[in-house]
Amino acid sequence: MFDNYEIWWVTGAQLLYGGDAVVAVDGHSKEMVAGLNQSGNIPVKIVYKGTANSSKEVEAVMKAANNDEKCVGIITWMHTFSPAKMWIHGLQQLKKPLLHFHTQYNKEIPWDTMDMDFMNLNQSAHGDREFGHICARMRLRRKVVAGYWQDSEAQEHIAVWARVCAAWADAQDCLILRFGDQMNNVAVTDGDKVAAEQVMGYHVDYMPFSDVMPFFDAVKDADVDALVSEYFKLYKHDKSLEDKSTVAFKKVWNSAKAELTLRAVLKAKGAKGFTTNFDDLGDANVEQTGHGFDQIPGLASQRLMEEGYGFGAEGDWKTAALYRTTWFMTQGMPKGCSFLEDYTLNFDGRRSAILQSHMLEICPKIAADAPRLEVHHLGIGIRKTPTARLVFTSKEGKGVAATVVDMGNRFRLIATDVECIKPKPLPKLPVASALWIPEPDFKTGAAAWILAGGTHHSSFSYDITPEFWEDYAEIAGIEYLHINEKTNLEDFKKELRMNEVYYMLNKSLC
Ligand code: MN
Repeated sequence: MFDNYEIWWVTGAQLLYGGDAVVAVDGHSKEMVAGLNQSGNIPVKIVYKGTANSSKEVEAVMKAANNDEKCVGIITWMHTFSPAKMWIHGLQQLKKPLLHFHTQYNKEIPWDTMDMDFMNLNQSAHGDREFGHICARMRLRRKVVAGYWQDSEAQEHIAVWARVCAAWADAQDCLILRFGDQMNNVAVTDGDKVAAEQVMGYHVDYMPFSDVMPFFDAVKDADVDALVSEYFKLYKHDKSLEDKSTVAFKKVWNSAKAELTLRAVLKAKGAKGFTTNFDDLGDANVEQTGHGFDQIPGLASQRLMEEGYGFGAEGDWKTAALYRTTWFMTQGMPKGCSFLEDYTLNFDGRRSAILQSHMLEICPKIAADAPRLEVHHLGIGIRKTPTARLVFTSKEGKGVAATVVDMGNRFRLIATDVECIKPKPLPKLPVASALWIPEPDFKTGAAAWILAGGTHHSSFSYDITPEFWEDYAEIAGIEYLHINEKTNLEDFKKELRMNEVYYMLNKSLC
């Protein structure tokens, strides 16, 4: 889906050095943009938009970027000294994410041959500082990447930002459908949906169960049968599950019908994510209406998450949107992402860890081995009927979990580095799970998360680095806290207090 997007590259120059210099700058820029695209490191195509040599030209390209749906961000680079007052009006207009790339066409100083003509063409050492000054003076949110354009390390920083820009564009046209509200009285999953749309772009709507039922009724039995066959082909399972006379088979069949219903609703509404709540989509409605979902659609949520739909349990629309963004920006990356919940603790000295799971809804992308399709009693909800789900444990390795909370005057994004370790089997709790130790250790990482007011829900990925969330928070203009191997509680508390003052003083960011 990155194919739908572009990043624009604008080179800053001026006409002081004569037309020949600008022609050379233009040639270098084309070569650099082609080089970045050919590197294979940057998943979004970079499009060269020419040199900007005057205030009028800067303003024109910024306005064009704002109005171009494919353009998800702008990279600027000052090949020559580009007097930065000429950037003011254009930058005031810019609504797309900005990356300032501090690089140079030429790699090494040609000591023996360097003359003034060379200098006129390789001036980013001071040109980029002039541009940086005006961005700082204007308090612009942006990413600065410094490095040689052919180095993969510099390219990787641009790649992260490009992925986040694409996910940001995706979020600006994102509907999260809520099947039901928050669980009664739950605070952390709630928040200001109007502010969320203003700040992060996505829209959240309620979908009453009565509006879901026509979709449920329209699902054809033959399509359900076909999906059940697909399940049996895709997933390991006990052969007995295929016995159509059993309750277990009926539960698999009902799960397939729920999946087809939800997918049809999401497609019809153009939604990119959803939340469930077992009081609404689950068992209670079967009691009331005589037909409908016989249990919360756990297997459907697992499979829709894998497809890229944002998911949040118990009405958690912020995590549903964050998961959609996580999934979107990690497209094509190998290890996977999931909605997760802090489930239960395992105290084991320095290896103390948190079991991550949920009743049912964990994305199979993070599974270590092929998931198993199983039907078990679900000990929650009103009817407590057996329910189909994919059961697995997750890969080992490092990852990042993130959440967004509403602090009343601002949104706060908290990211925590974690190490997933091998869990022991859970024969009596047949759900998907992960087991992680937060960085720098359980006692610090968990305490920091709690001090920051983090949820018991998170959007987790093995593939992203904290830089993704740093870029996302910068683009959104929200508070960013990162719990990592260097975190100590004394400094972390100071950061929380400093941020409180910062956001009180900067009301425009709230
Ligand atoms: Mn929960």
